[in-house]
Amino acid sequence: MKQTKYTGPGIFVLSSPSGGGKTTLVKFMKKKFSAIVYSVSTTSRPPRPGDKNGHDYNFISAEAFRKGIKEKNFVEWALVHGNYYGTPSSNIKNALKKGKSILLDLDVKGARQVKKLFPDAVLIFITAPGIKELSRRIIARGQDDMNTIRRRLKNAKEELRQIKYFDFLVMNDKIATAQKNMVSIYGAELCKIKKV
Ligand code: 5GP
Repeated sequence: MKQTKYTGPGIFVLSSPSGGGKTTLVKFMKKKFSAIVYSVSTTSRPPRPGDKNGHDYNFISAEAFRKGIKEKNFVEWALVHGNYYGTPSSNIKNALKKGKSILLDLDVKGARQVKKLFPDAVLIFITAPGIKELSRRIIARGQDDMNTIRRRLKNAKEELRQIKYFDFLVMNDKIATAQKNMVSIYGAELCKIKKV
């Protein structure tokens, strides 16, 4: 008979199209569970007003990012909306070493790369009910010009086709329900028995 043990901490990846409400859920999970460490990504995109270096992202130049790729500093990376984004390899290693779970906010390509390297990673797809609602939310937050909105919606359609690669789908219609579902997924995953 195979020996069994509890998995303990885990790797949780959240992805969503623009307007899905992922950032709100990431903030909620970070605040609610002290056993969760947030993976601060590195990016070549310029900081937006309110972005804090080292807290929201590590902001570096595109050239420095490409050097980081060559030096294999990232566990995964992707070009998203024309900018580089990547997860420093040390983020996952350090969190798990400390017995913490780690929460990553990644695009769908990054999520799939993490799953390849860590098959036990839990991929959670967050979305609003339908493209119309996504579009309404993107317009309502007033951050983007019309071209960017169009590009984000085009990308959203492609991202929605990738739901099949994820383990869970959280429909972010009512935020309270989405939060409750996130807590349930997290709790259930911590209790999962891993066959070793
Ligand atoms: P934003 O610039 O709006 O913060 O993020 C744009 C997109 O990049 C989001 O979909 C976000 O999930 C994704 N992203 C952020 N960090 C990473 C990362 O380290 N790797 C990958 N693959 N995607 C990321």
